[in-house]
Amino acid sequence: MIQLQNITKSFGKLQVLKGIDLQIPQGKLYSIVGPSGAGKTTLLQIMGTLSKPDSGHLEIRKQAVFSLGEKKMAAFRNREIGFVFQFHYLLPEFTALENVCIPAFIAKKSKKEAEGRAKDLLQFLGLENRVTHKPAELSGGERQRVAVARALINDPAVILADEPSGNLDTKNREDLHDLFFQLRDQFNQTLVIVTHDEDFARQSDKIIRMRDGWIEE
Ligand code: ADP
Repeated sequence: MIQLQNITKSFGKLQVLKGIDLQIPQGKLYSIVGPSGAGKTTLLQIMGTLSKPDSGHLEIRKQAVFSLGEKKMAAFRNREIGFVFQFHYLLPEFTALENVCIPAFIAKKSKKEAEGRAKDLLQFLGLENRVTHKPAELSGGERQRVAVARALINDPAVILADEPSGNLDTKNREDLHDLFFQLRDQFNQTLVIVTHDEDFARQSDKIIRMRDGWIEE
């Protein structure tokens, strides 16, 4: 589903990624761990086409993404990559349903199709009674599940999550982790998750351990 070949990236004189090779098959949950500054977020941002590498090759669903022009790459990103961050980044003036629909509207889906799928997803995530709530009216765990529904709306090739449970209490963290495994098992969803949670990482299909811009293990 995702192939990275010899990805390098520097910021000024600091080489943050020193030649990353990685293949992630469909339906697997990979975790990325390692000390702060190892390059985890930079790698995830390149996988998500939010940042371009200095050299190297990235394919997602057999598409060489960095050979696309900016406009096509933005459309590809909106369709094929679902992001979940530590903070939910929901738009405060919109309801849960409207927030979930945004990537579908950008992908030019009809209102009917977008809202139908968004409602199905919210129901699957146990949020059927929160459809018309705004982010301020939701708990932290609920907001993060709305963000997951938004990430799933276009049936993306991959969910990329950067410390998605970093801001949650123990119960909500465990629920979110269970949800990620459920997405893998029920929908064959591919997920790549940067985490500091070693227990969670141990349950994933593979642990990518980074250090100083390399995959150490
Ligand atoms: P991690 O996620 O493993 O903590 P990051 O990928 O965030 O690591 O950062 C790796 C290194 O790159 C750090 O030293 C960080 O300060 C540096 N870095 C990340 N983004 C930028 C940027 N936009 N400009 C300059 N330096 C950056």
